[in-house]
Amino acid sequence: MNKIVIPSTHPRANSLLIRERLIEHFAKGIVSDAGLFAHGRGEAFDYLLGERTTENALVAVTAAAAALLTGKHPVISANGNAAALGAEGIVKLAKVTGALIEVNLFYRSAQRERAIERLLKSAGAQKVYGVNQAASARIAEIGGERRRVDPRGILKADVVLVPLEDGDRAEALAKMGKKVITIDLNPLSRTAQFATITIVDNIVRALPALAIAAEQLSKKRQNRLKRIQSDFDNKKNLSEAIRLINNRLSKLAKNGTYISIH
Ligand code: ATP
Ligand code: MG
Repeated sequence: MNKIVIPSTHPRANSLLIRERLIEHFAKGIVSDAGLFAHGRGEAFDYLLGERTTENALVAVTAAAAALLTGKHPVISANGNAAALGAEGIVKLAKVTGALIEVNLFYRSAQRERAIERLLKSAGAQKVYGVNQAASARIAEIGGERRRVDPRGILKADVVLVPLEDGDRAEALAKMGKKVITIDLNPLSRTAQFATITIVDNIVRALPALAIAAEQLSKKRQNRLKRIQSDFDNKKNLSEAIRLINNRLSKLAKNGTYISIH
């Protein structure tokens, strides 16, 4: 595959580098073709948000870190896009919070599962759940291969982080009574709406922010962590994210330019 050189002075260098990383991991069999489309959807919302981590996202990051730290059995779910863009962040967050890491794919394939496991292990993961036969349990609400999970992982988790997740599965996990945390740039997606805590941010920024927040909060008492969660209102936070996009677009529409406004 020909690798393109992206000059660091290019105004959209970061976005292009992320895109290249996904294409590279697509060629390695980690990202699915549908994963590339999903990324395009995310990118569009990142553009609208100004490609930055908002205060609004940070509020959700803090609540999510508190939820992972107070969980009895927290699990971080990794699909192809999440592993390609955030393997190191996933491993770091798992270490800080004591969460397990499980491969959980919309389009399951033994090869892709193994490739994602290898990538996570090369980023430092000791154990990766949900690979091949290990995903022997079924979630009742969803059909086909998409319902398979690891009985030691997501099935018995009380808190699950499912970044870039599909709406059906997020809904099913929430119906099972789990605290569902997601990272999703689209505040209107079904996943964003069904989750208990939605971080409206790009996974490349949100995962490191989550690991830092978890590290800081790990020294706090359980009561304080519980209060952070009960003070958090996902519906309100999502409304705020939509309002941010709305206000930003209104400003852009007034000025008729994108370049100078952030
Ligand atoms: P839903 O099933 O939740 O209604 P969907 O069908 O549009 O949403 P999926 O492919 O099921 O989308 O899920 C992928 C989600 O991840 C999308 O909402 C997309 O905006 C988001 N996404 C893609 N790339 C990123 C990224 N880099 N960071 C954060 N979110 C992203
Ligand atoms: Mg979907």
